Amino acid sequence: MQLYKEQQIKIYNSLTGKKETFKPIEEGYVGMYVCGPTVYSNVHLGNVRTFMSFDMVFRYLKHLGYKVRYVRNITDAGHLENDADTGEDKITKKARLEQIEPMEVVQQYTVDFHNILNTFNFLPPSIEPTATGHIIEQIELISKIIENGFAYEVNGSVYFDVHKFNETNQYGELSKRNLEDLIHNTRELDGQSDKKNPQDFALWKKAEPQHIMRWPSPWSDGFPGWHLECTAMSTKYLGDQFDIHGGGMDLKFPHHECEIAQNQAAKGKSPVNYWMHANMLQLNGQRMSKSTGNTVNPSELLSGNNKFFSKAYSPSVIRFFVAQSSYRSVLDLTDEGLLASEKGFNRLMEAVGLLDGLKTSETSTFDVFAWKQKCYDAMNDDFNSPILIAHLFEAAKNINQVKEGKEHISEADLQTLKDTINGFVFDVLGLVNNTNNNSGTDKLAGAVDVLIKLRQEARANKDFALSDKIRDELAEIGIQLKDGKDGTTFSVN
Ligand SMILES: [Zn+2]
Repeated sequence: MQLYKEQQIKIYNSLTGKKETFKPIEEGYVGMYVCGPTVYSNVHLGNVRTFMSFDMVFRYLKHLGYKVRYVRNITDAGHLENDADTGEDKITKKARLEQIEPMEVVQQYTVDFHNILNTFNFLPPSIEPTATGHIIEQIELISKIIENGFAYEVNGSVYFDVHKFNETNQYGELSKRNLEDLIHNTRELDGQSDKKNPQDFALWKKAEPQHIMRWPSPWSDGFPGWHLECTAMSTKYLGDQFDIHGGGMDLKFPHHECEIAQNQAAKGKSPVNYWMHANMLQLNGQRMSKSTGNTVNPSELLSGNNKFFSKAYSPSVIRFFVAQSSYRSVLDLTDEGLLASEKGFNRLMEAVGLLDGLKTSETSTFDVFAWKQKCYDAMNDDFNSPILIAHLFEAAKNINQVKEGKEHISEADLQTLKDTINGFVFDVLGLVNNTNNNSGTDKLAGAVDVLIKLRQEARANKDFALSDKIRDELAEIGIQLKDGKDGTTFSVN
């Protein structure tokens, strides 16, 4: 169904700072590129949020009937430790520390990334290219940029000439910076760099003798710059100009800014019509950071084995929680927030579970068509999933009232209601209903609750031997009890 002919999406374009009517380059088709992970460690929960936002965008575009080519890359070479083109390649460093091949690092964390995304019910992208699989394309791109006069070679490395580029183009357009400010704010690196100017960035780096990941090129045996690989892979599969480019907010500068500059320099075109950026994920009001310990990884959140949360949360509850905020807002991950989302999710699933058994009447007491369009309006407004969810709750209320006989619904309206709810809840939001068909899990939870109550009674009677026995024997079969200020919860390992 070509719903896109009836539904007009507006996208907040980071390039213009405005919500703009979405008009793909070719009617009915959408090309979308999202910067994927650098596979040198387990995927960060903040990145999961970013990819989840674009999974929802992908799902909604498909729901509207667009043919979407969604490209999300794997960075398996070239991402250095800091943005000033210094430091070690992140993957090489990890390989050195663990004394394994860089490609073992890549394999291990690519598998981890896919496992986590599958757990969260992500749709796979149409193409998932790797940087190391596109070295030839990157070398060609560098040659073109040199030919056009926007890059120079020094000692086997090639740098993008930002100052030269800025004479005829506007460097900093996306991140709203200008070269003057950048010059003012960059510290000189003691003349150690080969760059003409500190703002220049590497397109190709000559490999030191000990560097394992290296490829031959006209300039040296070396490796490509991180920014370059995204330009090479996005344009190879989506064309020199394509519809949507997404990524985390932290990639806007310099990464995405450099992607624009490279494409302009090589092909004389700005590559992307709509730039979309997903905002940050915080933990308890603060930035997630390994160094301060304020961090939790996806598997710890799912298992409940962490110090921040009172229990384990299912992947769908976490997805629901993420969708309850706009992708453009900072999202704060808290136990209260997740508990509230879990309640909401269960309430919604209960209502969905009632749909099949509802009795129909001659007429309806509420306007299903108007409600349906409100759902679309929410998603058409820059993928406003929290508003969509508010409308889904409104429908849940109506469903309960029909069940109680306080409202009526006609057969045709019930079909529309079912189709619309199923479409949005499962296809667009990507939720999985594991509340009613997993009654075994519910019974297990009920049984453990009985044991938790018996243990509380034992403790109240000062029978600590019995209370410890209950806890320890449950732990032996993989059920961890956790005592918190609001009572005891459990997680299953
Ligand atoms: Zn990228």
